[in-house]
Amino acid sequence: TGRFATPTEQRSPVTFADVAGQDQAKKEVAELVEFLREPERFGKVGAEVPHGVLLMGPPGTGKTLLARALAGEAEVPFFSTSGSEFIEVFVGVGAGRVRRMFEAARNAAPAVIFIDELDSIGRTRGTGLGGGHDEREQTLNQILAELDGFGGKEAVVVLAATNRPDVLDPALLRPGRFDRHVILNLPDKTARRAILDIHARDLPLADPADLGTIAEGTPGFSGADLKNLLNEAAIQAARRRAATITGADLQEARDKVMMGTVRTLAIQP
Ligand code: ATP
Repeated sequence: TGRFATPTEQRSPVTFADVAGQDQAKKEVAELVEFLREPERFGKVGAEVPHGVLLMGPPGTGKTLLARALAGEAEVPFFSTSGSEFIEVFVGVGAGRVRRMFEAARNAAPAVIFIDELDSIGRTRGTGLGGGHDEREQTLNQILAELDGFGGKEAVVVLAATNRPDVLDPALLRPGRFDRHVILNLPDKTARRAILDIHARDLPLADPADLGTIAEGTPGFSGADLKNLLNEAAIQAARRRAATITGADLQEARDKVMMGTVRTLAIQP
């Protein structure tokens, strides 16, 4: 019954197979799977497993995806929130929400909590210019209190994502809090190909080898950009009333994503 008490709880169908590249990051996060599956085994020998893991990397590199994959692999509930959800709420609301989410996760343990955009609440305290400052500080303090409140045995892993680790309040990084850091990078050519392969699984490509050409020609693209590119190419093929996506569709989509015009072309009925 308590299981679905919060709207933020989900079962994650994502696994590590859905995350291309990011081998080091995957390896580090995979270590937590065993703990989530059998926390008693770790507790029995007095092993303390880290509760707080900070995922750092540029936008669209798969931080959210990796957090979901951890919950999916371990087959445990996934609770998620984003720092940006707390920006304009009334004083006390953010802290209450954090408290309820941690409480729900503890009740559902073993479980994974994911906090996206940690930097929007977790910036160094005392630098706000009034306004939402007090609220943000209370929310941040509540997160710190929750992390400190974990006993060694509670099987709740808290992952947080940021692309601005440099602005985080140092209090967040202290031992016992987000003291384990996992770095995600923009994909190299091989990883870009792997990402394209994953997202093109169900697309009718005229020639799958075209993906190799696209992987070569997309340095600096994130995983999210590549996913966007494929979608844009599919839209173009549909507009042509074609049954397959050609190399030309892919090239054109690449140029659009590169020029940053894709977002405005999202599918509209
Ligand atoms: P942000 O910082 O913008 O929140 P993020 O790092 O959390 O980004 P995700 O939201 O996980 O990135 O990535 C967006 C989408 O891009 C994912 O849902 C996934 O489809 C795709 N993607 C990103 N990285 C990868 C990857 N390494 N392998 C497969 N797909 C990826």
